[in-house]
Amino acid sequence: MKFVGAHTSAAGGVENAPIRAMEIGASAFALFTKNQRQWVAKPLTDESISAFKANLEKAGILPKHVLPHDSYLINLGHPEEEALAKSRHAFLDELQRCEKLGLPLLNFHPGSHLKKISEEECLKRIAESINWALDQTEGVTAVIENTSGQGSNMGFRFEHLAAIIDGVEDKTRVGVCLDTCHTFTAGYDMRAPEDCERTFSEFDAVVGFNYLRGMHLNGSKAAFASRVDRHHSLTQGELGLEVFRFIMNSEHFNDIPMVLETIDETIWPEEIQLLYSLIE
Ligand SMILES: [Zn+2]
Ligand SMILES: [Zn+2]
Repeated sequence: MKFVGAHTSAAGGVENAPIRAMEIGASAFALFTKNQRQWVAKPLTDESISAFKANLEKAGILPKHVLPHDSYLINLGHPEEEALAKSRHAFLDELQRCEKLGLPLLNFHPGSHLKKISEEECLKRIAESINWALDQTEGVTAVIENTSGQGSNMGFRFEHLAAIIDGVEDKTRVGVCLDTCHTFTAGYDMRAPEDCERTFSEFDAVVGFNYLRGMHLNGSKAAFASRVDRHHSLTQGELGLEVFRFIMNSEHFNDIPMVLETIDETIWPEEIQLLYSLIE
């Protein structure tokens, strides 16, 4: 079965996100468990945690179909020790928030070398950061998202994801999330069915579908292989709908959260319906 939703707002408290997901007809969703543009946030209150769990049940959504996203400020591959430590502590806090909410996944962008260390050294640091944080938590899987490769961001090649996984000690608690916009603008074509076949076979060979824990379903404003990260609505932009038909009809994408981060949230209910209508 396919579980599709969107990145819903947690404004007013994390407990509001499942309700918003239910309202748009979602069976999965993503959220920020704290303000994504700030380093520090107040701890989640017991009231908020129990309301979140109650609302999740009310929405009929399973914890494994929720894909929390961490703060944009965190860089687990930071070249400087002090900044790296700050990122690691913030990442640990994000994992602990997931633990408290009973959520088994945390999605994050791998990190950036800022042109101060090599790509290899950056990937090694990211894996070490994950090990450090996983050691201090239980039951939450670190889900690495692939990127467009904008600036000095790592994660734009499937090989990067594989190298990070290789450096993580507990392979049962590391996984990946593929973002269709990022994959496409990083240089993996998915416009025609045969492109999808080739790209996802390559993913399977390099990383492995056994590590796939979630998907971000986005169109792309930016051109193929532009290394630019600009999302678009599903039916607009450069990517086209074939990739979504492929995903909705492939069993490799069963039982994982698949989340829209498309730019017009007023049409999320229609986009969710559109995705289900592609099932043949
Ligand atoms: Zn994404
Ligand atoms: Zn993006």
